[in-house]
Parts: sequence; structure tokens; C-alpha cells
Amino acid sequence: MDIHAYAQLMQVLDLSDQEKQTIIDKRTGQCICPQCPTYKECQAPAKEAVFCTIGKSGCITKEVKCICSTCPFAAEFGLKNMFYCTRGSEKQQLLLETMQVRSEWVR
Ligand code: SF4
Ligand code: SF4
Repeated sequence: MDIHAYAQLMQVLDLSDQEKQTIIDKRTGQCICPQCPTYKECQAPAKEAVFCTIGKSGCITKEVKCICSTCPFAAEFGLKNMFYCTRGSEKQQLLLETMQVRSEWVR
């Protein structure tokens, strides 16, 4: 599945909070964020993960390194972005990229 298909899937699904939590619970086992140097910078007690789907972390602010490119979930869905914990979900980053392109067109 490529990046656009993933974004469309997330949009079409229009998930409830309960459904989002189910996905997060299911995908947390695949998420390798806890092994990442950027993740380890944050000492918050809450177990956060799957930032590519849920968006920015409530704790992580400093970007050290991103290992998302080696994650099985990223490979399965063909994710192209990185630093989801500080920059937002795949869908959010895709939207920002689109807006930046459009703002350049307007200039
Ligand atoms: S792509 Fe990154 S944020 Fe998403 S599940 Fe994998 S390691 Fe976690
Ligand atoms: S999203 Fe990337 S940078 Fe952030 S904790 Fe996960 S692997 Fe590290």
C-alpha cells in the first residue's frame, strides 16, 4: 500500500476513539519507537507509540534519530515520512506537504 492509499484509507475509515484505540493496541506490538534514541529522550510514564497513526507525542520534543524506516508497520503500509512523534502522523505530514506545494503555487 503506498502513501496515498494509506492516507485515503485513514480518511475513509473515519474512526471513532474506540476504533483508534483498537488499532493502536494492535499495532503497538509492531511499533519499534521504544528502541529509538529520540523516544528514549522522553521519560514520561505514559506508554506512547504508533505516532505515524495517532500523531505527535505529548512528551517528545527533541529529534535525535528516527528508525521508522526499519519498522514492519511502515514497510507494510509504504510509509514515506519520519519523526511522526514530533512532526505529526503520516496523514498530517502528507497534508502539510500538499499545503506547502499549494502555497508555492499561489506566490
Ligand atoms: S512507523 Fe514509526 S511510529 Fe509508526 S509504528 Fe513504526 S516505528 Fe512506530
Ligand atoms: S516516530 Fe521516529 S523519531 Fe519518533 S520515536 Fe518513533 S522512530 Fe523515533
